[in-house]
Amino acid sequence: MQIERIVIIGAGIGGLAAALALQRRGFRVAVYERGAEIREIGAGLIVTANARRALRDLGVDDALAAASSCVPVMYTCAYDTGRIVREIDNGELARRHGLASLQVHRADLHEVLRAAVHANDPVALHAGHEFVALEQDAAGVTLRFANGATARGEVAIGADGNASAVRSFLFPGGEAPEFNGQVAYRALVPMDLVPPLPRRLEMGMHPAPRRYLLHYPLRGGRLMNVIGCGQSDSWAEEGWAIPATNEEFAAAYGDFSPEIVALIRAIPPGELFKWGLRDRAPLKTWVVGRVAMLGDAAHPMTPFLGQGACIALEDGLVLGRAFAASSTPEEALARYEAARKTRGTNVQLWSREEGQALQDPRIPRRTAADRGLLDYDPATVAV
Ligand SMILES: Cc1cc2nc3c(=O)[nH]c(=O)nc-3n(C[C@H](O)[C@H](O)[C@H](O)COP(=O)(O)OP(=O)(O)OC[C@H]3O[C@@H](n4cnc5c(N)ncnc54)[C@H](O)[C@@H]3O)c2cc1C
Repeated sequence: MQIERIVIIGAGIGGLAAALALQRRGFRVAVYERGAEIREIGAGLIVTANARRALRDLGVDDALAAASSCVPVMYTCAYDTGRIVREIDNGELARRHGLASLQVHRADLHEVLRAAVHANDPVALHAGHEFVALEQDAAGVTLRFANGATARGEVAIGADGNASAVRSFLFPGGEAPEFNGQVAYRALVPMDLVPPLPRRLEMGMHPAPRRYLLHYPLRGGRLMNVIGCGQSDSWAEEGWAIPATNEEFAAAYGDFSPEIVALIRAIPPGELFKWGLRDRAPLKTWVVGRVAMLGDAAHPMTPFLGQGACIALEDGLVLGRAFAASSTPEEALARYEAARKTRGTNVQLWSREEGQALQDPRIPRRTAADRGLLDYDPATVAV
């Protein structure tokens, strides 16, 4: 297919994966990011086998694995006593699904993708460009940015995340985000500040009534990622970086085992953030004319299955493969949507379900592995 340029809005995990997948298939891309710099916040992510297959195809899995942690065991504990009630052997997951799950610093995942896109084309990435509007005609799409600049391509990809401006522009007055009554806390703690915690170099999930706390090591055990999430009577904003205090976090999780309360109290000043989770209904379509959405913009999901970034990575690779397999942009976008929409929407709905199970012991949990999500191969699935 003869195409001059594909424009991508958002240099997050999905936007960079799409850019790299397209570049590796010979397409020229330009990526526009609203941030003044193209970089990620400090937080942890779990990258499972399905997403590692995308990273392998993109040529960055080895580099990411070298920078990450790979815990031997993921265990679930009684929140109040710390007693272990379930163990998942990561080696067994690797044998069953082909690849182990990695615990990854978001900045490391983002950086391997960013560096690869930049190495392919040093002028592909444009920071400081906040998308505000677009116009489409029969030949392409013109993007407009808050700084007054414009950009044009034959196709535009909206990869601008959970609160996507592209989605709001295409569907004005559409799905309204709803605060789902849950507030999440996140922190990174240098491992030498972590108090004695049994098996601290493994992954611990502590589900409790109306809340859960998850911790796992990053960067080969130099950092501990801590996430607490639960029902809250107080409202919190949607953003990722609202400062929070150890006191409020410890007060909301004060009935957890003493080791977990000590872990919360050990979070250094300035390292604890919170946000209010928003839930959105699935979209009826991901493609409008020559504009398609990808990642959280297409399927904004709650974090309970830990698959948002993984599914965004899969989307990016399949988008690149769909362009390589097509003779027109319309055909490529139709192939992409047909290959991805059911999976993205299912995971969006299952994440919501898993959120209920995590906070209500009467509902059985079904992790991403239990639901068969780790067996998907975005490098070979039909497009
Ligand atoms: C607590 C928590 C834990 C999680 N854990 C996991 C996990 O373990 N595993 C996992 O796979 N996923 C996890 N996720 C989900 C994952 O972080 C997201 O699903 C993933 O980042 C989505 O990628 P994306 O590219 O769609 O969006 P993002 O990575 O959010 O990127 C969007 C980009 O678009 C930019 N942007 C926004 N608006 C504009 C605009 N108007 N113009 C230009 N640029 C714009 C943003 O600055 C950003 O760079 C977790 C999420 C949370 C909240």
